[in-house]
Amino acid sequence: MKIQFVDVTKSFPVRDSSVPFTALSDISLEVREGEFLTLVGPSGCGKSTLLDLLTGLVKPTSGEILIDGVPVSGPGLDRGIVFQQYALFPWRTAVANVEFGLEAKGVPRRERRALALSYLELVGLHGFADRYPHELSGGMRQRVAIARSLAFDPDVLLMDEPFAALDAQTRESLQEELLRIWEKTGKTIVFITHGIDEAVYLGQRVAVMSASPGRIRTVFDVSFTSREGDLRAQPLFGEYRHEIWSLLREEAVPVG
Ligand code: ADP
Ligand code: MG
Repeated sequence: MKIQFVDVTKSFPVRDSSVPFTALSDISLEVREGEFLTLVGPSGCGKSTLLDLLTGLVKPTSGEILIDGVPVSGPGLDRGIVFQQYALFPWRTAVANVEFGLEAKGVPRRERRALALSYLELVGLHGFADRYPHELSGGMRQRVAIARSLAFDPDVLLMDEPFAALDAQTRESLQEELLRIWEKTGKTIVFITHGIDEAVYLGQRVAVMSASPGRIRTVFDVSFTSREGDLRAQPLFGEYRHEIWSLLREEAVPVG
């Protein structure tokens, strides 16, 4: 198992209260080596907190997070992160942004440029190496951010709603591109989204979360016999989508 959450709970202290707020409760989840797992849930259900735990920036209140069987003790270059906001350096060109990852890895200067250019090519940005972030569209900036994360050559790619700020058409082309990159690189990907379609389109498995406190409701196996043509138009796509939608809707209706 590449990643294991074992009975993980995360609570935050609440000001002027002795009762902490439980953001995540009893999370048990496993991600296989090379798997593309999507995690979908309503806003505020603890998705980003779960990812923060994986990065090692935040510690669980109880339970354990293991990577390759070893407890996560802090941030590491084995995990690359892509956020919704473009976390690019505005004073660096696209290629220099990607080179940042390589500098961190100690790759010699000579090799850096060539490698960085190959990562830009991988994300479909051939010819845009010398553009500054402000000279790129939102979608292109996210491509650079993905290239920079890949340049660290992480085992695991953690993505927190990376396409949420993009228009629908750009989002779809990046989703397709990401699947291609995943197939090519064999990385383990944990991809967070609040979009059901996105979760079903990208994930081999979809973990559905519920809120207050954040829990994993179900994990769906998503398998299409063929991804040829318009996947979203396949009846099976609609079935997965509806099942997840029903689960999330149940959640939104107050009971009792
Ligand atoms: P999501 O990413 O699913 O929208 P988050 O993980 O950001 O949800 O947040 C889950 C819940 O935990 C929210 O109610 C949020 O207010 C709370 N929370 C997140 N981080 C903190 C923190 N550092 N201190 C207190 N509460 C937090
Ligand atoms: Mg979030």
